[in-house]
Amino acid sequence: MKDSNCIFCKIANGEIPSKTLYEDDQFRVILDLGPATKGHALILPKEHYANLYELPDDTAAAAMKLAKKMATQMSRKLGADGLNLVQNNGEAAGQTVMHFHLHLIPRYVNDGQHILWNPGESTPEELEAIKNQIVE
Ligand code: AMP
Ligand code: ZN
Repeated sequence: MKDSNCIFCKIANGEIPSKTLYEDDQFRVILDLGPATKGHALILPKEHYANLYELPDDTAAAAMKLAKKMATQMSRKLGADGLNLVQNNGEAAGQTVMHFHLHLIPRYVNDGQHILWNPGESTPEELEAIKNQIVE
């Protein structure tokens, strides 16, 4: 299903032009308009799913397979030193466009970006309680 109010539906289905790196029946891969680094790209499913929770299992699997292929090609062609896969779900996590997308962010030594988090601290008891909260 497509959402007529969704900009990524329009981009993924070619109604709005984009710098397309790859396209098949299920996905379009485009360059991000506000790149974190040179080559920052987005994998967009052509169907509208707001986030990871809505994504069908087979689409999720295909997205990761495509991420591997694109990451390999982009890193080699761009001479990247590393690459981050980033996928935000919900405003609190930084999602601004509510159509599932997977960021491919090539990294270069001293590129000045800060995608990593500050490590926190926890006791074994706290970790045990959190584990139980998640799996029980
Ligand atoms: P997120 O914060 O995970 O929702 O990421 C949204 C991303 O979409 C940001 O990196 C934006 O720069 C990018 N973006 C927003 N509009 C467009 C557009 N029309 N074409 C390409 N990238 C876009
Ligand atoms: Zn959409």
